[in-house]
Amino acid sequence: MDVHAEICRAIDQYKEKAVSLSHQIHEKPEPKFQEHFAAGLLGGAARELGLPVETAVGGLATAFRAEFGNGSGPTVAILAEYDALPNGHSCGHNLIACAALSAVVGLKNGAKNLPGKIVFLGTPAEEGGGGKIILLDKGVLKGVDAAMMAHPFHGEACTMPALATRHLHLSFQGKASHAAAAPWDGASALSAVIQTFQSVDAARLHIRDGARIHGIIINGGQAVNIIPEKTECQFLVRGRTSKYTLEIADRVLRCAEAAALATGTRMSHEVIGGYKNMINNRAMALHYAALSESLGVPSPEAAPDSPSGSTDMGDVSHVMPAIHPIFQVAKRGEGSCHEDAFVKYTDSEYGYAAMIRVAKALAMTAYDLLANPALLKAAKDEFAQRQES
Ligand SMILES: [Zn+2]
Repeated sequence: MDVHAEICRAIDQYKEKAVSLSHQIHEKPEPKFQEHFAAGLLGGAARELGLPVETAVGGLATAFRAEFGNGSGPTVAILAEYDALPNGHSCGHNLIACAALSAVVGLKNGAKNLPGKIVFLGTPAEEGGGGKIILLDKGVLKGVDAAMMAHPFHGEACTMPALATRHLHLSFQGKASHAAAAPWDGASALSAVIQTFQSVDAARLHIRDGARIHGIIINGGQAVNIIPEKTECQFLVRGRTSKYTLEIADRVLRCAEAAALATGTRMSHEVIGGYKNMINNRAMALHYAALSESLGVPSPEAAPDSPSGSTDMGDVSHVMPAIHPIFQVAKRGEGSCHEDAFVKYTDSEYGYAAMIRVAKALAMTAYDLLANPALLKAAKDEFAQRQES
């Protein structure tokens, strides 16, 4: 039997366990940086495979790392996410986690004499915490030649044109006064927030296609009969490249500064975080797509302008060749990531079947990157020629 078939057989043999673990994570949704149950479960499963598991890597309590294989060959990392949103596993990270674990099982139990090393990396807080950025900064991905993960979605694609983000928190300091008896003594921080949103809306015409600016008012004032003294809002700015996203964020800040000037208030801001855009490594992605097709499900390249979210895997893709294919667990119109309606699909028979299929395509891609120097070279050459963005 060839190695691919052995890998797939090992994954099939583990299916019941993988589904049970994924279901348990789904039943106990944990927000960013609080994923103690999920990290413990996945680390425990890796230990059961005989892997030495390092916990709290990079100083993150809910991160873990396990590696195995032949140290003289190249290294491929398979990344697991397992954080949830306030409405549960509406992004299906329980499926990501156990697709990654199943891929690791396939490589550990199915591929004898692995021609390189596999790193199984548990990465916390994709939803707004940027766990992968912290792990990159702490050197946890040092020495890794290529990285991969897969994410559930309402469609299938071997690439994901994830947008770069910049998350801004704006505060306006005005002057309180009696709203009826002495409004002329006050300076409204609420007017400043409203003016900011209006100026941002006016700026949209001049912003390139594919970008997004969305914001919320967190604090709109203290009492209806007092001129609002302090207000706060947040904007999430997204663009196709990190560089352009910074330009848009700068424009939002100028709108806020202008609003402060016009209303006689003071504006201060804080950058809460941001992700880089995803550079999809086509050499790896097309290889993954061919393997997915061999399993009966085509995984085409996504159109570069197709609507997409953002991910801290984007930051990984700026450091090494990486892929982030998406796999279908719901039909378009039935529910999309982050919606309440998506939660049931991430704990469904259909979702788990997709998770196992994707685990096989990931595992075979990882094996081929280790076993086929021309494939890894193509991925690395493409990465070296990337447009820095
Ligand atoms: Zn997600």
